[in-house]
Amino acid sequence: MKCVVCHGNEIEPIEVKEEIAVKNDIIYIPVKIPVCKTCGERYYDRKTVRYLEEIRDKLNKEELKLKEIGKVLVYN
Ligand SMILES: [Zn+2]
Repeated sequence: MKCVVCHGNEIEPIEVKEEIAVKNDIIYIPVKIPVCKTCGERYYDRKTVRYLEEIRDKLNKEELKLKEIGKVLVYN
């Protein structure tokens, strides 16, 4: 498999943190997906996309218990 962005061939499964924004919060979802080691392009398979959609749905309905690990701050 070659990277469609940089044409590199070093694509390996890596655990990354997907960010999902819900209102003013950012929730990190750890997923293991193939990532290009050269340019960082992420390749989502259908299963991962569905998994993330399910989590996004649940987050919008506030059904999930989350742990606070930090804060998202803004400087005005
Ligand atoms: Zn690449």
